[in-house]
Parts: sequence; structure tokens; C-alpha cells
Amino acid sequence: MRHRAEAWRKIDGASFDVCVIGGGATGSGCALDAQLRGLSTVLIEAGDFASATSSRSTKLIHGGIRYLQEAVTDFDPGQYHVVKQALRERRFMLENAPFLAHTMEFLVPCYRWWEVVYYGTGTKIYDRIAGKHNFFPSKFRGTKDAVARWPLLRGNGLKGAIVYADGQFDDARFAVALAQTFTEAGGEAVNHARVVGLEKDAGGSIAAAEIEDQLRGARTTIRARVFINATGPFSDHIRAMANPSVEKRLRLSKGVHILLPLDERTRDAMVVPKTDDGRVIFAIPWLGRLLVGTTDDEVTQEDELVVKRTEVDYLLQQLNRYLSRTFLAEEVVGGFAGVRPLVSSGKGSKTKKLLREHEVEIDGQSGLISVLGGKWTTYRAMAEDAINAAQRQLGIAVGGCLTREHPLSGSEGYSTAYPQSLTANYGVPDATARHLSEKFGTRATAVLELAKQQPELSDPLVAGYPAIRAEIAYSVRNEMAATLDDVLERRTGLQFFSWNAAMEAAPVAAAVMQRDMRWDDAETQRAVSEYVGTLASWTQKIGLAKEEAKA
Ligand SMILES: Cc1cc2nc3c(=O)[nH]c(=O)nc-3n(C[C@H](O)[C@H](O)[C@H](O)COP(=O)(O)OP(=O)(O)OC[C@H]3O[C@@H](n4cnc5c(N)ncnc54)[C@H](O)[C@@H]3O)c2cc1C
Repeated sequence: MRHRAEAWRKIDGASFDVCVIGGGATGSGCALDAQLRGLSTVLIEAGDFASATSSRSTKLIHGGIRYLQEAVTDFDPGQYHVVKQALRERRFMLENAPFLAHTMEFLVPCYRWWEVVYYGTGTKIYDRIAGKHNFFPSKFRGTKDAVARWPLLRGNGLKGAIVYADGQFDDARFAVALAQTFTEAGGEAVNHARVVGLEKDAGGSIAAAEIEDQLRGARTTIRARVFINATGPFSDHIRAMANPSVEKRLRLSKGVHILLPLDERTRDAMVVPKTDDGRVIFAIPWLGRLLVGTTDDEVTQEDELVVKRTEVDYLLQQLNRYLSRTFLAEEVVGGFAGVRPLVSSGKGSKTKKLLREHEVEIDGQSGLISVLGGKWTTYRAMAEDAINAAQRQLGIAVGGCLTREHPLSGSEGYSTAYPQSLTANYGVPDATARHLSEKFGTRATAVLELAKQQPELSDPLVAGYPAIRAEIAYSVRNEMAATLDDVLERRTGLQFFSWNAAMEAAPVAAAVMQRDMRWDDAETQRAVSEYVGTLASWTQKIGLAKEEAKA
């Protein structure tokens, strides 16, 4: 990807076949698909790529064991269809970005024999629906075996666990890799650029979008033949911009995750199969932490999207019932909140019951194509449907989707031995080699070449964490990172690992960014204090300890 300033110059006043609004999973997927089909495409993102819902997921590439339960108990064919499609899509995600996605065992603890039968039957149906796309068949593990793989599990009364297969991925980096792959295919993308208005032609169809640079305040107009609204939770806003008479379609559901110290012996993910309010919660090893989530509460666009103490207490209460020890709120090292953009046909049912199926809607008046709902796991299928609709609108033959087998940037030549080659060739510690490989794939070599040219960039961002300073410079120059949030949250993942560590790293990261971003000293200082101020207010809200407890 270009440096952001150059990307802005490239789109300024330009014309394209397709303009995709929104650079989360859905929009980045749409942009890549369109560009690969030969349509000149631009991707406009108001914040950073994946800065909204797409970096706030449970990081599961899954059919959805809970949706399967609903499909069976509620005789709901819609839920069944979502599960089936997602189970097929899982494999494409793993194959196209092996450094960002992998299979994982999910353990459902059973304290009654009927639970063994119930969950065992459910996961067998899950295997069956996955068919040839299944990773491995579900199975029963005895108590000793289950506790060996999940040492914090309460062994008392445990009959054993049902184990099934799903995938796990790095959602924020996956979206960056999609955007990167898209630009390498010839597309133009710009982040921190908001669509603030749509212009129509004499026939009432959208002909141009007015874009505002969110960092510098400049404005430009770009023209396109088709506009795709992939703004997730913000879709109703763009729909209304295109046609003020349309009714709202989205119901928003807030989901919170927290991060806890990880017992390093933990190998699998654990499923809390039924919470007090009849939901499912996951506790998953993720980048050296235990990721626990999620909640599901209906919200409005105006609600503040932060992790609240009551939400932390709820998650810990549900989790602790299954553990041999009790996690306290003071042990939480970070967290995040996101909004599910669920498609609704009316009020009524609770958000947890709403379908995760997607819909491609075409506004008859303005021609706007909106891609609504869906899941991360089905982003590619959603994009395929949306670009089929775009081709129809352009009056060209429908087809030619190439994304099923299109490796993402960083996958070239990647193998499980790649991290060792970094250690051997660049002398970096194992943990750093692993971290760089998991974030950048084979582009990690370019990160380490930077560090070779500027040896001060090989220092860690903060002591005790594998991320190094060269990642910051690389991300600004090659991945359009432009703010501290971009680099510390979504590019390096440090903010997901620990809020305290991210606050400590902020001045170091800002100093690396200063020259490339052409910030003066006052701007650099302001960036640090704004970033640290935000995280400090989050830590206070949930009473997070200043010193982190070790697992
Ligand atoms: C708590 C939670 C857990 C989840 N877990 C999973 C999971 O484990 N697996 C799974 O498959 N799915 C999961 N999902 C669902 C999945 O995360 C979402 O379906 C997906 O990320 C939605 O992507 P999107 O691109 O549609 O929306 P978003 O990621 O929200 O992207 C929309 C983008 O549009 C941009 N935008 C808005 N307005 C404008 C404008 N005017 N101009 C330009 N850009 C604009 C925004 O900045 C935003 O980046 C989860 C969701 C939540 C909330």
C-alpha cells in the first residue's frame, strides 16, 4: 500500500468503475473481488482498515455452534444456511492466509452425562454439515485429558469434554492483508477518509462521492459508475444519504471481550456452552492472552462503545463457574467492544436470535448497493454476491470471481518453518520471529531489512514484548498506518495484548512515526497524550490494575 499522503493524492478527483465505502471485512473483501474481476476500484475508509467491528470479533473462523443449536431447536433453515456457508468459507480463509489463520480445538466441558450426549450429537451434526470442508471429526476427551489441555478447567464433577474443530484468526491483520492485496492488484485505497456526501446525476443515480480527509480536513470528489455501501453498523446512514426515504434495516448489538493472563499450558479454546442468559461464551488462547467473550446487548448508534465494569463482571462470573481458580476484575489486562450489524425485518426478537445471514440490497432510486449483516467468516461470499450485483448494474457479464483461491499478501512462500528462517537469517529472538511471522507473513523479511538498515529500529517497542520498532516504520510506509491507534492496536497488536504496555509504548512509537508522518513536536506530543488519555480512561472505567498480574 502507498503512504497515506500519496494515496490521498492518487484518489483526489479521480474516476473509477467501483467505489467501495467502508474498509472493514466486507468492504476490503468487495474491493479485492471487484479489482480482481478487472473493475477499477477505490476503497474509502473513514477510520483505519478494520477499526470498527472487524477488529472487535471473537477471532473465530466458524460455522457457529450456537447458530447450529438454533437451526435445530427452532427448525430455522436460515440459521442452517449461515452455518453451512460459513463452514465452507472457513477453509478459503485458512488457505489464502495461513500466517493469519489456523485450526483450533474447541472444548465443551460436560458435568452431566446427558451433556456429553447432547453436545456430542450437536458437534457430529456440525461435522456432517462441514462435510469435505471439515478440519477433523469431533470427539470425546476424558476428564484427565480435558484438564491436561485446559489446566484451569474445574475437574471436580467433570465427566469429560466434547472437542470439535473450528478456525481462529487475526481479524485486524486479515483486513489489512485484504486491503494490501487489493492495492497490489492495482486498486486504490485510502483510510481516514470519510464519505460525507453523495452526488446524483440527472437520472437520480449516484455519480460521485464527496470525501473528507479525517486527519487534515481537506475534501475531494471522486466519481464512479457503481457505489457499494459496506459500512457495517453505519450502513443505514449511507443508505439514507443515498435515499432519505428508505427505512432503517439494522439492529445493533454490542459485544465485549476481555483479555486475561494466559496459563501457558492451555492449548485449546474452551466453550462456556450456556450462560445464565442462554448464550455461548468462548475463552480462547490468543496471542499470548486468554480472550474471553462475548456479551450481546442491543445498543443504538449514540451509545458509548467502551468496556464497562458490569460487562467485565458478567463475563468473569460466567467463566469462573467452569474454573478451578477465580479470575478477578483486577487481573484484566485489556479488552474491546464492538457492534454487530444485524439485519432486521422489524422489532421483536432479541439480537442474539437475529440471523447472521447477509443481504445485498439495491436501492432502486440511487443504485446504491448495500451489503448488510453477515459475519467475518462469510466476508468473501458476501463480497462475491455484492460484486455480482455490481456487474449486473454495469451491464456486463456476471462472473469471474477469483477470491476463493487468491492468496493474500504475506502468504507468498510462507510455511511453518518461516519463523525459524528469520531467527537464522536476522538473529532475532524466537518470540519476535514468531510475532513478526504471525503479523506480516513473509513480509516480515522486509520489516527486518528495515531494522538492518536502521539498527535502532530493532529494539523492542517495550521491554518484555516481542514487537519491535521497525514494525511501526514499516506499517506507516507500506500499510497506510497514520495514527498511534493504527500502529499500536491493529498493526502490532500491542494494545490487544496489554493496555498498560501500549501506553508505555506510545511515546516510542510516536517518535518512530514523527518523521514519516511529518509531524512537528507539538503534533507528536498531542498524538501521545490523546492516545494515552483514552486508554487511561478505559483502565479507570474497569478498575484495571497498574501492574499486571502474571498467570
Ligand atoms: C463482539 C463481536 C464478535 C464477533 N465475532 C465474530 C467471530 O468470531 N467470527 C465471525 O465470523 N464474525 C464475528 N463477528 C461479526 C464480524 O465481526 C462482523 O460481521 C464484521 O466484522 C463486519 O464487517 P463490516 O466490514 O461489515 O463492518 P465494519 O468492520 O464495522 O466496517 C465498516 C467500516 O465502514 C467505515 N465507515 C463508516 N462510515 C463511513 C463513511 N461515511 N465513509 C467511509 N467509511 C465509513 C467504518 O469506519 C468501518 O471501518 C463478531 C462481531 C462482534 C461485534
